[in-house]
Amino acid sequence: MKQPWFQTTAIDYPNSRPHIGTAFEKLGADVQARYRRMEGYDVFFLMGNDENTLKVADKAKELGQEPQAYCDDMARQFQEVWKALDISYDCFIQTSHERHKECCRKFIQKVYDNGYIYKGNFEGWYCPGCEEFKSDKIYEENGGQCPNHKRPLVRRAEPCYYFKLSAFQDRLLKHLKENPEFVQPESRRNEMIGFIEAEGLKDLNISRQGEQWGIKLPFDPEFTIYVWFDALLTYITGIGYGDDRAMFDKYWPCDTHFIGKDITRFHTHIWPAMLWAAGEQAPKKVFSHGFVYRKNETTGDVEKIGKALGNVVEPMEVISKFSSDAFRYYFLRECPYSSDGEFSWGRFQEVYNSELANNLGNLLSRVITLVTKNYDGALPGSSYDLMRVQTVATQFYWGTELALADVETRRKVIEEFKRLIEECKFNHALLLCWESFLVPANRIAEQSAPWKLVKSDKATTAEVLKFLIEPLRIAAIMLKPFIPKSAEAIYTSFNFPKPWAEVTYADAAQLTAQPDDLRVTAELIDGKVKPLFPRIG
Ligand SMILES: [Zn+2]
Repeated sequence: MKQPWFQTTAIDYPNSRPHIGTAFEKLGADVQARYRRMEGYDVFFLMGNDENTLKVADKAKELGQEPQAYCDDMARQFQEVWKALDISYDCFIQTSHERHKECCRKFIQKVYDNGYIYKGNFEGWYCPGCEEFKSDKIYEENGGQCPNHKRPLVRRAEPCYYFKLSAFQDRLLKHLKENPEFVQPESRRNEMIGFIEAEGLKDLNISRQGEQWGIKLPFDPEFTIYVWFDALLTYITGIGYGDDRAMFDKYWPCDTHFIGKDITRFHTHIWPAMLWAAGEQAPKKVFSHGFVYRKNETTGDVEKIGKALGNVVEPMEVISKFSSDAFRYYFLRECPYSSDGEFSWGRFQEVYNSELANNLGNLLSRVITLVTKNYDGALPGSSYDLMRVQTVATQFYWGTELALADVETRRKVIEEFKRLIEECKFNHALLLCWESFLVPANRIAEQSAPWKLVKSDKATTAEVLKFLIEPLRIAAIMLKPFIPKSAEAIYTSFNFPKPWAEVTYADAAQLTAQPDDLRVTAELIDGKVKPLFPRIG
């Protein structure tokens, strides 16, 4: 029996196409999902679109389309981008689809029956753009305008249904304090505790009156469910809540919800309380990631990405010019997942050329060319002789603690690497891979210069080449969740005995038992391998 692993990303508003900031969240989640699959988990990775919002209905109207047709088309476009980025989700949920609506109604009825929903009146300052009421404090601080939309807030009063959030204040505070893993990173957990301690939790308006687009309340069809309430419910309707209890029980509680830092409160205050109100468990972890900003290449200013500033970069633009792996590598390496990062074409080129083209790609093509040209594509002697490797290593490299030549050091590096992935410190993990294996391997290649050595000493050169192929094997396995296509291309360039689909991190930590001669199996054109990452510029 495999251990289940359930994870989600936030669901997106389909009122515009995904940009690099939207993609950033999915990338981090995808690394986690791929890593867990490699480690033997039964992974269920849920994504989706948040469609029951007036903004979406308005946008469809603007384009002269039916809301449903508009939502379905946007869902198709979103998934096209996610597939192009190799995001390995198992299910994509659309909140406008009938099954989700039906299961939502069951949930809200349960909460109502349990006595946590009551009818009341709500009056306050409302922003039609945000589709939410703003506090008096926000109204005063911003001269009566929405701080996001810079438009006047309007006074709005309406009968509504309240969710009794206040009833869960003590339980939630206790939960936050007793479960350090519940909100990550740590700084956001402290913020969430601080918020409850300072302001407390107030009951929440969860309905809208007289709207056509949305999910009707089962106990009062004049009202629709406030869009945030139904959006959160995708996390459980997506795994069978409401009609497949066996599947739901298998995957719930969720192992990690990946979300943007701006919606941390919804996920760590409202969401667990909603679940408790329906008699379900809170999720195990909410990971609240940072944002990607756009560095203006002319002024050097760091800007928020948005249509208004005309600085939107679409993932497809980067993927079609370079590759999905180049895109994935840049954001995972350059932007810390838990805090903020920046994108500029200039920096993209720098990172790509120095780490992917000159380092990883170059090492692979050099080794393949040498083995093909001088050894007919096969290095004689089947086993990887650690003693000889160490002799080669110390001959050309001064470090004795080298992860490449010392199995114990290597094992520790791989353990550390796994820990970094589990903590979503993807940039540190990639740095560790480069510093421990790829940078030293390139240095050894430079110092041993096998392209010269082969002319005088073919036997030693063969050992040097075996020594250089080993870090490529290790790196391919380490990088499998990060740059899946390239990692596979590297690994399958040689006849390593373990099939690619079955490799785990334990294989990276150990020396491989190579039963046959080590051979190049990559597809070659005139004795050369097609460059994995052709240099830019
Ligand atoms: Zn607003």
